[in-house]
Amino acid sequence: MELTWSRLHIPYRSGRFVISGDTTATNDTFVVQATMDGKVGLGEAVPSRRVVGVGADEVEAELGRAKSALGPRSRSGDAAPPLPLPDLPSPVRCALDGALLDLWSTRREEPLWRALGLPRPEIPTTATVSLGRPEEMAREAQGHRAAGFRTLKVKLGEGQAEADIARIRAVHEVAGGVPLRVDANEGWNLTTTERLLPVLAECDVEVLEQPLPRDARPGDLRALTLAAEDEGVAHLLDEAAHGAPDVKRIGEDRLAHGVVLKLQKAGGLRAGLDVVDEADRQGLKVMVGCFVETWAGIALALQLAGRVAWADLDGAWLLAEEPVVPVEPFLEDGVLKASERPGLGIRAAPEVLSR
Ligand SMILES: [Mg+2]
Repeated sequence: MELTWSRLHIPYRSGRFVISGDTTATNDTFVVQATMDGKVGLGEAVPSRRVVGVGADEVEAELGRAKSALGPRSRSGDAAPPLPLPDLPSPVRCALDGALLDLWSTRREEPLWRALGLPRPEIPTTATVSLGRPEEMAREAQGHRAAGFRTLKVKLGEGQAEADIARIRAVHEVAGGVPLRVDANEGWNLTTTERLLPVLAECDVEVLEQPLPRDARPGDLRALTLAAEDEGVAHLLDEAAHGAPDVKRIGEDRLAHGVVLKLQKAGGLRAGLDVVDEADRQGLKVMVGCFVETWAGIALALQLAGRVAWADLDGAWLLAEEPVVPVEPFLEDGVLKASERPGLGIRAAPEVLSR
């Protein structure tokens, strides 16, 4: 097996991506290919200092270490191949998990979800509205609705509470009654959140992601969860929830109604399924989300869509270029549906990858 990768800087469809405390103009990502007997498996590693503490240079160095460790591997066998090295950072584990599973199921000539015994994935996804001025956000929301998305995720969490109230009202006004989800990316405190919750409820917000900092006190998180419940809003943790052990603690201490699962944080699909299993045991809801990533990352996350409550998998749609493309389109009218094609149902676009 040969492991290769492309280090990419992809521009955003809208020119920029803004969340609380972070603005970027291009997205750094690694598309990883595992090749054997002329068949290719694709995976993706997205560096993120903010969320997983790993930058692009470190991802590249760790991919090099994984390549040496992979070495010659068994060419037959029914079991999905194990990951090399236990101590790789989570985005690198995610990329290897994706590439190895895509290659394995492609060689079996089965879609990955079926090879793993998962229900066929079909789920509406949100499209993300970047943080900005209320009128800019309303314009972006209208664009997403015109493109067919039936639910929107609104980035808030910057400036005074009044600024966020104006933003969510502006989006709600043009959203046509579809459910909204809000992500404050750690930008609020308990007082601000309790003040904003009734406004969110008025604006058809069904989910609130990570309003408080990731190291918020358990007492504050419990109070917020109860306050959100009174307003009919689900409180989810994202930056504070990475793998299954976090989910166990969140469930046992009743810190939230659910978690945002991202395979880049969890370390791949198999680790992501452990998160879903633990959430089920704890009675927590799961939203499968993503970083901004290409179809290689999105296709892997999509595999477990049949086991979660909500999906926020618009990452590839936010990018202006497609270095990896679905063999058949996954996204239609805001609904993601995995194909019957073998593996992940994606292929590399060499003309974009080599740019
Ligand atoms: Mg989030």
